[in-house]
Amino acid sequence: MQDRATNNLLRSIPSVDRLLSDHLFEEIKKRYSDEIVKRMVRLALDELREEIREGRAGPAECTVEALAARAWRTALSRVGPRVRTVINATGVVVHTNLGRSPLSKKVADRISRVALSYSNLEYDLERGRRGERNSHLRMLMQELTGAQAALAVNNNAAAVLLALSTLAEGREVIVSRGELIEIGGSFRIPEVMARSGAVLKEVGTTNRTHPRDYTDAVGEHTALILKVHTSNYRIVGFTREVGLEELVGIGREKGIPTMMDLGSGCLTDLSAYGLAEETTVQEVLAKGVDVVTFSGDKLLGGPQAGIIAGRADLIERMRTNQLARALRMDKLTLAALEATLEEYTRPEGPFAGIPTLEMIARPRELLEEAALLLCQSIRDRTGDRCEVTIEQGVGRVGGGALPMSDLPGPRVVIRPRHVSAARLEKGLREGDPPVICLVKEDAVMMDPRTLLRDQVSLLPQLVAKVFDGETDHRG
Ligand SMILES: *Cc1c(COP(=O)(O)O)cnc(C)c1O
Repeated sequence: MQDRATNNLLRSIPSVDRLLSDHLFEEIKKRYSDEIVKRMVRLALDELREEIREGRAGPAECTVEALAARAWRTALSRVGPRVRTVINATGVVVHTNLGRSPLSKKVADRISRVALSYSNLEYDLERGRRGERNSHLRMLMQELTGAQAALAVNNNAAAVLLALSTLAEGREVIVSRGELIEIGGSFRIPEVMARSGAVLKEVGTTNRTHPRDYTDAVGEHTALILKVHTSNYRIVGFTREVGLEELVGIGREKGIPTMMDLGSGCLTDLSAYGLAEETTVQEVLAKGVDVVTFSGDKLLGGPQAGIIAGRADLIERMRTNQLARALRMDKLTLAALEATLEEYTRPEGPFAGIPTLEMIARPRELLEEAALLLCQSIRDRTGDRCEVTIEQGVGRVGGGALPMSDLPGPRVVIRPRHVSAARLEKGLREGDPPVICLVKEDAVMMDPRTLLRDQVSLLPQLVAKVFDGETDHRG
C-alpha cells in the first residue's frame, strides 16, 4: 500500500507534454529527435516514480529543472557516446581492457582519409578491374618478414580459426599439453580447435614434451603440427619443450605442415629494452615454420587484426575458404595496418612512429623527467591534501605478451590525507577524461610510461578536482 504522501508526490509529477513544452527542454530537443526526446523523458519519469515508491526521491526531484537534468542524464547514458578516451596511468602498455595499442596521429589520419572517400580497396588501378583486398599488405609483409604470402583478418583468434579450419578440418592437429592455453578468458586453444572442426591431439605432459611425443602421434589422420606461444605464463623448473627447428624437422620428415600461433607478433628486436625472450615473426619463418599467426594490436602496435603469414599455397587455400569472407578485415583497419607496417620500413626504425613501441623503449631520463614534473605539479595543485612521492616500480607490456618481462621505471605515488586511496582512484576513474590508475594499500600510483602526449599536464587538475569534490572524511 502506498501512503498518501507518496501518492501526492506521484501526482505532482509534470506530464510529458507539460515538460516538453517547457523552455528547459529546448536544449535536449536541439540535440535529439522528437521520438528520442519523448522516450528519454518517459524513461526518466519511470525512474523517478520508482525512486518515489522506494522513498528515495522527494519534491526536489519532481521539479521541471530536476526532470530536465534527469532526461539529459538518461539520454547521455542510453544514446550518448559510450566509447570514451581514457588516460592509462597503469604502466601496462598493451592493456587489453583499455583498447591495447593506441595509434599515432599519422596512422589515424590514414584511417580518416580512407573513411572520407572511395578507395581502391578491391580495385586494380593498373588493369582497371576487380582487385584483391590483401595484395598490398601481402607485399609489405613479404618485405618485412620474408613470408611468401600473408592474409589479414579481424583478430588473431580469427586467424587461428581460419588456419585450422582450412588446413585441418576433420583431421588431427598435434599440440603439446604445455601449450593448451587460455588468453583473456575467451580464447582457448582446445575450444577454437573444436570450432574449426579440427581434432585436437594432445601430446606430452604439462611440463615436458619430447620430440618422440610428436613423432609417435603422427598418423594417417594428422593434418598439422601446431606450436602455441604460451603468451601469458611460463612453465619453469623441470621442463622440456620441443624447439621450432626440431618441430619443423619432424614435420618435414613426416610430410606434415607446421604452424605457430605466435600471439604477440613482434616484428622488431626488443632485446635492447630488456625484453630479450620474444621471438620475432621473421625468426619463426626463417626456422622454416609453414604458417605463423599473430595479432596486429599487441607488440606490432597497430589496429586490432590477425595476420597469417607463410607458405603461399597454404595461405591461398585460406584466402579462398568461405570463412575468410566472414572474418575479413574492413577497409579502415586495413588502412591503419598498412600505415603501421610502413613505419617498420623507415630509416629511423619503427620506434618513433608506433606509440606502443615508443612507450616500451621510452628512455629512463624521459620517464624520470615526466615523473618529476607530474609529482611537482600535483603537489602544487593539491597542497597538503595528499603526500606525493616518486618511487621505483615496474610497468608491463601486457596484452598477454611477455609475462616475465618487467619495464622498470619511476612512479608517482599519491597518498591522500583525508580520503581513502580507493576513493581517489574512483574519483579519477569517474573524471573527465577518466584516469585509470593502480591502487596499492593507501596509495594511488601513476606510471608515466603509458601517458601520451599532453596527458602529464592534464593529471594535476584532475587529481585536484577529486579532492575539491570531497568533504574531509575517510570513506
Ligand atoms: C593474444 C593471443 C591470441 C588472441 O589474439 P587476439 O588478437 O586477441 O584475437 C591468440 N593466441 C595467442 C598465443 C595470443 O597471445
